[in-house]
Amino acid sequence: MVTAKKTVSKKAAKKIVVSSLHGDINADTIRVRMYRIGFGDCFLISLPVMKRSGSEDSHYHVLIDCGVHFSGDINTMDKVIGNIAAITGGKIAALIATHSHQDHISGFGRFSEKFSQFDIDEVWLPWCENPADPLALKLQRKHAALAEMLDEHFNAQRTINAPAANTPQRNAAVAAVVNLSGNQKALLLLRSGFDVGAEVRYLGAGEVLRDPAAIEGLTVRVLGPPRDQQFLSKMNPPKDQRYLRLGAGGGVNMDNALRPFPAKWITDTGVENYRGPVLTAAEKEELKEVLADTDLDNLAFALDQVKNNTSLVTLFVFRGKYLLFPGDAQYGNWKWWLDQEEAEDILPRISFLKVAHHGSHNATPKDALERMGEGQLAAMVSTQSVPWQSIPRVPLMRRLSEKATNGVVRSDWLAIDDAPAPLAHTEPPMPKKLPANFRKGAFWYDYLLKLK
Ligand SMILES: [Zn+2]
Repeated sequence: MVTAKKTVSKKAAKKIVVSSLHGDINADTIRVRMYRIGFGDCFLISLPVMKRSGSEDSHYHVLIDCGVHFSGDINTMDKVIGNIAAITGGKIAALIATHSHQDHISGFGRFSEKFSQFDIDEVWLPWCENPADPLALKLQRKHAALAEMLDEHFNAQRTINAPAANTPQRNAAVAAVVNLSGNQKALLLLRSGFDVGAEVRYLGAGEVLRDPAAIEGLTVRVLGPPRDQQFLSKMNPPKDQRYLRLGAGGGVNMDNALRPFPAKWITDTGVENYRGPVLTAAEKEELKEVLADTDLDNLAFALDQVKNNTSLVTLFVFRGKYLLFPGDAQYGNWKWWLDQEEAEDILPRISFLKVAHHGSHNATPKDALERMGEGQLAAMVSTQSVPWQSIPRVPLMRRLSEKATNGVVRSDWLAIDDAPAPLAHTEPPMPKKLPANFRKGAFWYDYLLKLK
């Protein structure tokens, strides 16, 4: 899909990419750039153009997420987007928004004017965000209604009983609800293709894209989210699939099934008929009474996790290399594709893993990590211990350090003014020297995956 606009920007893109910051990204290198953005994700993947294609560009660029949690913002986003513009020459082949949490998409709304200046070929979203999909709409309505109710209740409790409402667990729960809010502008822009004519695709597990966004030689296997709600509602791995004991401060002990509504509200017409945030005054009053007896913190965590499970999970297969970007996928999302036959084939071949959900306890099933890329795995973790101190999860990070023989790098090793440093007893500690093929920038790390 070559547009006139693309042709114009080709020259600039070439100049910038060739004079790129380390001079070591060439036609045989995939570069994954992880920005330190605070508590959030922003990854730029640069894939070399095949020499014989006759293109003047040296790399195609794919942006995966650009968001930060309100309470974990370290004020680097402006610079991050400036760097993305410089590196890509303003050309993004595919822009992926994995799921509609603030810490993954807030940048698209806040810096909408900047993103509208990019030349973007395709925008990819999970099927759960498709406004033309009735099942997706139902999910969105349900989530929106719950988030609104929780917000109201937390506010009310704070007013009535301020000290009791200010526990670490409550703060973690409030942060989870905050993550769900304020995403409408970003979503509208994403769904509109930023008004720059980008093609918008809603993707689900099982799809295979060949040469997507005109990226020659790339195959993308979409591994999640599954369409089956049974899977979407499984948040926590069974015990033998965890690297944890559920911890304090954000840890949550609950069943796998999401039961966001008190029994009284689940009538024979079913929760699905619940009409969302538009409630009558009487309904609101009644719900308030019922919720007074419900564990709101766990409800908030459950809602946060079910949204994580809507993550668009993409496996990039490029010239024999497998790179996995699972967003914040939690157990049910993983489980769907781990149950497929092809998982046997995929897992040992993975050479790069973007660690899911900032290294939290329930977003990397043990069995999956254990079977990944023997002897060739590298991993990046975009993480920080604010606002959730339990992240990243120490036992997971420890095992990851052993499994990823080509190195693990975490974003919060980068010292940024006023940004939180890693906690004292966290893992892995920052090494004196970065592992081979990792590079440090002003507010990013690069992983250079050599194709030869
Ligand atoms: Zn996240």
